[in-house]
Amino acid sequence: MNAPVALKITGLCKQFGKLDVLNGVSLEARDGEVISLIGSSGSGKSTLLRCINLLEQPSCGELEINGVSLLLKKNKLNQLEAIDPKQLMDVRQKLGFVFQNFNLWPHMTVLENIMEAPVSVLKLPKRVARDRAETLLEKVGLVEKAHSFPGQLSGGQQQRVAIARTLAMEPKILLFDEPTSALDPELVSEVLAVIRTLAKEGRTMLIVTHEMKFAREVSDRIIFLHEGRIEEAGTPEQVFKETRSIRCREFLAEAI
Ligand code: ADP
Ligand code: MG
Repeated sequence: MNAPVALKITGLCKQFGKLDVLNGVSLEARDGEVISLIGSSGSGKSTLLRCINLLEQPSCGELEINGVSLLLKKNKLNQLEAIDPKQLMDVRQKLGFVFQNFNLWPHMTVLENIMEAPVSVLKLPKRVARDRAETLLEKVGLVEKAHSFPGQLSGGQQQRVAIARTLAMEPKILLFDEPTSALDPELVSEVLAVIRTLAKEGRTMLIVTHEMKFAREVSDRIIFLHEGRIEEAGTPEQVFKETRSIRCREFLAEAI
């Protein structure tokens, strides 16, 4: 793949007190690439995603988004923080996060949830934001729920709204942290179907998932994290069929 590099992470590390959670993770995601992050619970997957947009402050490392380095400095706690708050805001706008627990605003309708950030952050006129929200609701198959409140929706529907809300900001890179883990089993496939569509559109995505069959089918590359290190990485074929890592093999045997 020779597309430009959308996201470059170099030597990322993170300590929580004395606990080393990330131990020098480096990876590149090119435009249009879909990368799944897999690994046992506690291996550092969420922390890695959260460090990318500085929801969590890394202890060391470098981040580049669209070829531009995020300017970082060490604070008193020896963690990295952004030098320029405006640059951090720009970077965060390029990164769209979808969490396990949807995090929709309960007091706003579905449509209002999707329109909120485009109106308040991007300063889009309401009419434009509404058109965009309606188009996205069509994409995730929930037009008829536009005026419902999150509490009136199933988990799968809420997660599809959360994805639409993230897309409304037109991010360059989508980061998913176990988007289906909080769902009842029968609701998983409707959410995976939406993510699959996004992959086919050529969006750049980093997906933390336990859905191995899905990861195998949708990803260009799979990364297996173990104790905060990349233990194995390659195409789905390489990782699922030819992995040399015993830990990765054991993990897959349990997970599939
Ligand atoms: P994963 O997403 O792979 O399950 P996490 O990134 O959530 O793993 O966690 C990795 C390790 O970091 C775990 O040992 C977890 O307990 C620890 N950890 C995560 N967040 C914090 C935090 N805010 N404070 C202290 N320890 C944390
Ligand atoms: Mg996690």
